[in-house]
Amino acid sequence: ATHEETLGFQTEVKQLLHLMVHSLYSNREIFLRELISNGADACDKLRYQALDNDALYEGDSELRIEIEHDAKAGTVTVRDNGIGMSRDEVIQNLGTIARSGTAEFLKQLSGEQQKDAKLIGQFGVGFYSSFIVADEVTVRTRRADLAHDAGVEWRSKGEGEFTIADIPRDARGTEIVLHLKKDAKEFADDFRLKSLVRKYSDHIDVPVRMPRVDVERDDDGKEIPGTEKTSWETVNEATALWVRPKAEISDDEYKAFYKHVAHDFTDPLTWSHNKVEGKLEYTSLLYVPSRAPFDLYERDGARGLKLYVQRVFIMDDAEQFLPLYLRFIKGVVDTKDLSLNVSRELLQQDPQVDKMKAALTKRGLDMLKKLAKDKEQYQSFWNTFGSVLKEGPAEDYANRDKIAELLRFATTHTESATQDQSLADYVSRMKEGQQKIYYIVADSFNAAKHSPHLEIFRKKGIEVLLLSDRIDEWLMSHLTEFDGKSFVDVAKGELDLGDIEGEEEKKAQEETAKAKEDLVKRVKDVLGADVQEVKITHRLTDSPACVVLPENEMGFQMRRIMEAAGQ
Ligand code: ADP
Ligand code: MG
Repeated sequence: ATHEETLGFQTEVKQLLHLMVHSLYSNREIFLRELISNGADACDKLRYQALDNDALYEGDSELRIEIEHDAKAGTVTVRDNGIGMSRDEVIQNLGTIARSGTAEFLKQLSGEQQKDAKLIGQFGVGFYSSFIVADEVTVRTRRADLAHDAGVEWRSKGEGEFTIADIPRDARGTEIVLHLKKDAKEFADDFRLKSLVRKYSDHIDVPVRMPRVDVERDDDGKEIPGTEKTSWETVNEATALWVRPKAEISDDEYKAFYKHVAHDFTDPLTWSHNKVEGKLEYTSLLYVPSRAPFDLYERDGARGLKLYVQRVFIMDDAEQFLPLYLRFIKGVVDTKDLSLNVSRELLQQDPQVDKMKAALTKRGLDMLKKLAKDKEQYQSFWNTFGSVLKEGPAEDYANRDKIAELLRFATTHTESATQDQSLADYVSRMKEGQQKIYYIVADSFNAAKHSPHLEIFRKKGIEVLLLSDRIDEWLMSHLTEFDGKSFVDVAKGELDLGDIEGEEEKKAQEETAKAKEDLVKRVKDVLGADVQEVKITHRLTDSPACVVLPENEMGFQMRRIMEAAGQ
């Protein structure tokens, strides 16, 4: 080996390694799933790049993953003949965590949270999970487009640093050797490894092979020494999951596949698998995760589907197939209607892609509608992704009715901060004569709940939606009506309770207004230019006065957002 150097892991990696080793002990076996998943990704990438450069195969186009073990030495080896890595790529991929926002996220975790295994799922456990079972890991790799002397060896004990050196390497692709910890030697076992491959990697379309030893036997059935022959046996099913008929796929297989595509560690909440034939031909498999990735709100956070064209992997994170407000959906789309050399740029201009996007958006919304039938599950979805879905009506005018059905709110009906009431629930409880849906927006749930604007509504028993998410005012400016009823911000403009108020009540109000004209004039003189208008109000029953915005004025929340944006 030459050009050997020892480098420190990025701080975030050290933190993650520590977290992983301490919180995933009871899930140790997932290391194998992660390494196979990486091998399959590497094969996908090579196949894609070889589309216009066949030479990359170097005469060996049978892509595969091989798993071997050595019980005596206590090692497990996972090998692939995929794309491989250059020296720079090894340093980047196996020494840092590239996703932006990682450092901040890790810093925010409290001691208690750090013990929570599920939090790790937000990163995807990935390659570093090797160190849950190994106290030393050796990686040997060569990138498919580099010469045979451009191999790289990476070694680490998973503590603070790793060593990297140049090596000659004939085989392209990557080989990972795990030197198992004392208490993890059980994994260097044929039966154990095979059952793990079946459990976790049946759905991967790259064959996963393991050596199989056959021995000749004499007439008494005794093994004849020296006749051992080793051959490779494919252990997994090795067909892409989405290609198989739905009826044949078990929930566990769907879940395992999700973990591979989404790089997630937790089970998905639900999924929807569809084959479409006709003018457009594609298969989609969409998932709703149960946890939000930590970069859900980052501008450059990963989003989009994994795109295949006729089963050939084309790209990760193809953003063009779903709107932004459904960016939490993960999965694959496989189509015959795009060319194999489609690029991100071409996707943006392709009318077929727009049609697929419209269809997949409907699928996504239908999937959520179905999920909504299970109150508990839907609540869990809403708590995690509700405020992303609230971006919907602004982004996707055509589907705003469908989206509106999926929204959930806190209201004066429950008086609870939990957003669990649908607009249909609200409408079903409307008072006789009530024509509008009333809402209030404030900075916090408590501010909304205790707003003086609600006094009259409480007195009359009229329900009001209590909105306090950052996005809410934006949402309400794009939701014009639901079920034929328009929305009214109770803190804005004239308060018209419509037919809920009787004639007498209205008359009494007019009389009060007349009688107090003098008072109004005096208050107006005192406040001067600070206000536009001073009026007698009937919206208050206990408080003496409140500030009201004119109907068409930007709300307090929006003003703050605009100010923050420098407007
Ligand atoms: P993820 O798979 O979510 O990107 P991992 O931690 O599993 O995260 O892997 C990090 C990166 O290291 C991968 O994105 C890939 O670029 C690289 N990598 C890991 N394993 C392999 C492999 N077997 N062949 C080629 N590249 C690999
Ligand atoms: Mg991975």
